[in-house]
Amino acid sequence: MTKSKAKPRILIIYTGGTIGMIEDPVSKVLKPFDFSHLIDNVPKIKKLDFEIGNIQFNPPIDSSNMNPSHWSMIAREVEANYDNYDGFVVLHGTDTMAYTASALSFMLENLDKPVIITGSQLPIGEVRTDGEENLLTALQIAAARNSRGDAMINEVAILFENHLLRGNRSSKVSADNFNAFTSNNYPELASIGLDITYHEKVLYQSDHNRPLIVHDTMDTNVMFIVLHPGLTKEMLEYQLNTPSVKGIVLKTYGAGNSPSDEWFTKPISEAIERGIVILNVTQCGNGSVNSNLYDTGNTLAKAGVISGHDITSEAAITKMMYLFGKGMTTNQVKKYLQRDICGEMTVNN
Ligand code: ASP
Repeated sequence: MTKSKAKPRILIIYTGGTIGMIEDPVSKVLKPFDFSHLIDNVPKIKKLDFEIGNIQFNPPIDSSNMNPSHWSMIAREVEANYDNYDGFVVLHGTDTMAYTASALSFMLENLDKPVIITGSQLPIGEVRTDGEENLLTALQIAAARNSRGDAMINEVAILFENHLLRGNRSSKVSADNFNAFTSNNYPELASIGLDITYHEKVLYQSDHNRPLIVHDTMDTNVMFIVLHPGLTKEMLEYQLNTPSVKGIVLKTYGAGNSPSDEWFTKPISEAIERGIVILNVTQCGNGSVNSNLYDTGNTLAKAGVISGHDITSEAAITKMMYLFGKGMTTNQVKKYLQRDICGEMTVNN
């Protein structure tokens, strides 16, 4: 298909989410509905001269019900259809879209084709829906080629309203704005206005000679611990002693800071000594952990807590699931958490 003048072939994987929901006539709440309803509401799709295939989750789901087994299903569909399509559009609820995008970026090693995830804030059947435009733009991006005739996008990305964002750099930031996603620590991949303007210097460059490798085992023995003033020693210890937990993303203050008192640092050090991997990720939506800036951040580094630099929470937790899922030892997981694997973190490897 590559470089030929054949029609672009795009596979839509419909998982659910608001974009395809309709109102239940009795309860009036929104519920996922099937793919034909969705496509019937976008007649303009025929104006794109594409060959479009589709696969749908049966039943489609609200993305709050997504779990790693669903990510594996998406990854396996991409793999099974990889040679038959030029690009993939995943229709997904917005609530956990950034987690799915982050997870897929790790699961689809050597991805060399676009996987564009989109959804909407209003169902596709609503008059003012954002779903139609998001779907059509996602399809155009999945089919886009650069001047060499190669796929413009070779990575997992989120398309939402005016922005195309790297999937593992994205977070949902609004429950009601059409521009619901941001990527605070990495530039947008394309700006959507009258034209779709690609920012080619920041696009992921994949190695075209390497085959796609799908990793579909995610280890869910990982969790967040969120710091807040008033957190007690008991609460902290209870969480650190969660049975079977192997990795913790510690959501710290500012540049990676935490209380420096012994009630906090001792249980953290003891957990690390027991073999638990702890990753320091800032609660701020923007900026980076810098363990050398304050004594309070340095204490964590001295205890063996790893810096997550500018990684998002969504990418941090899914990266841990991926690394443990590969069967890595504690030391290997620590090593790879400090490296950028697929554009998720700003660090010199
Ligand atoms: N609850 C919905 C979901 O995530 C919200 C949405 O799609 O915007 O599936």
